Amino acid sequence: MTAPLPLVFDAPRRGMPPRHLADLDAEGRRAAMAELGLPKFRADQIARQYYGRLQADPAAMTDLPAAVRDTIAGALFPPLLTPVRHIACDSGETRKTLWRAGDGTLLESVLMRYPDRATLCISSQAGCGMACPFCATGQGGLNRNLSTAEIVDQVRAAAADLRDGAVPGGAGRLSNIVFMGMGEPLANYKRVVNAVRRITSAAPDGLGISQRNVVVSTVGLAPAIRKLADEGLSVTLAVSLHTPDDELRDTLVPVNNRWPVAEVLAAARYYADKTGRRISVEYALIRDINDHPWRADMLGAKLHKALGSRVHVNVIPLNPTPGSKWDASPKPVEREFVRRVEAQGVPCTVRDTRGQEIAAACGQLAAEG
Ligand code: SAH
Repeated sequence: MTAPLPLVFDAPRRGMPPRHLADLDAEGRRAAMAELGLPKFRADQIARQYYGRLQADPAAMTDLPAAVRDTIAGALFPPLLTPVRHIACDSGETRKTLWRAGDGTLLESVLMRYPDRATLCISSQAGCGMACPFCATGQGGLNRNLSTAEIVDQVRAAAADLRDGAVPGGAGRLSNIVFMGMGEPLANYKRVVNAVRRITSAAPDGLGISQRNVVVSTVGLAPAIRKLADEGLSVTLAVSLHTPDDELRDTLVPVNNRWPVAEVLAAARYYADKTGRRISVEYALIRDINDHPWRADMLGAKLHKALGSRVHVNVIPLNPTPGSKWDASPKPVEREFVRRVEAQGVPCTVRDTRGQEIAAACGQLAAEG
């Protein structure tokens, strides 16, 4: 990708919070120390507190002199995210957190515990501008991009709660991150990529989560997918396809009018080639809309042609949004859909639907606050 990206990928810094430690890379942290008249070694000390000990309150960074704590509190730790409430379901194994940003913006993250892992679903934007008609977030439009620090701090906070045993199920370790909360991550490109680096770097530069355990989910902004492929990251790319034909996809995922299925799949192929990672294709199965046997055949055929064996389909039973006339497909239709995709040589599984009763299924995060 050499051509400059269209403006859609990086909206202006409208309403962004003041600079936070987690916005800065190692060099930025050292520059900030110089600016504040502090010795350079403080930069690593502070980063170790934030990324290593998961401490976001300077007052509790007791290895720092009181005067330093005061200085950095004002300059590097502006109020970022305050939990408004936690809502639990699935016997406590799923927990949705509603956050209020410094300017009052609301956003959400969802923590899901499994026997072998703990996954956090995070937001990259407050609201979303992609307007997919079946998605709750898409109905409200885009409020604003989240800053890198606002993205990273969702992860730090969940990791701290898990470590401290503050989540039902006892103490644990946060292992997986999915960008499947509010927003289109590739429409907030730079901040999301910076956040991925912070989340996956080892302490004191980051939170130490494996890149392989991070999923970036996109509607299919083809040029941004290619750019992401060139970042040298090994995160999993999930593409929200939802139908293999342009005619229906123009409606289900309106950005398809700009980057149609063939371009999205070509970009996904480029991503698979560059990173060696298998592509995950998301397919929200909607009764009588996109669940036809011929669509399953076409999906399997197109994916096999574009990606060979380096693709996996995740079927997500539609989680109906309030007031929507759409519903999930009946189970026999779903089973036949999966069977037909697999018959084309493409692995296909049905995703479990955690958090339905708390409106925390992916894409439903904001609407009910
Ligand atoms: N904007 C990104 C990530 C956010 S949504 C994207 O579109 O990929 C994460 C996934 O949940 C997407 O595949 C999205 O299409 C899907 N989704 C949204 N609303 C849904 C709903 N009501 N039922 C099932 N899946 C939904």
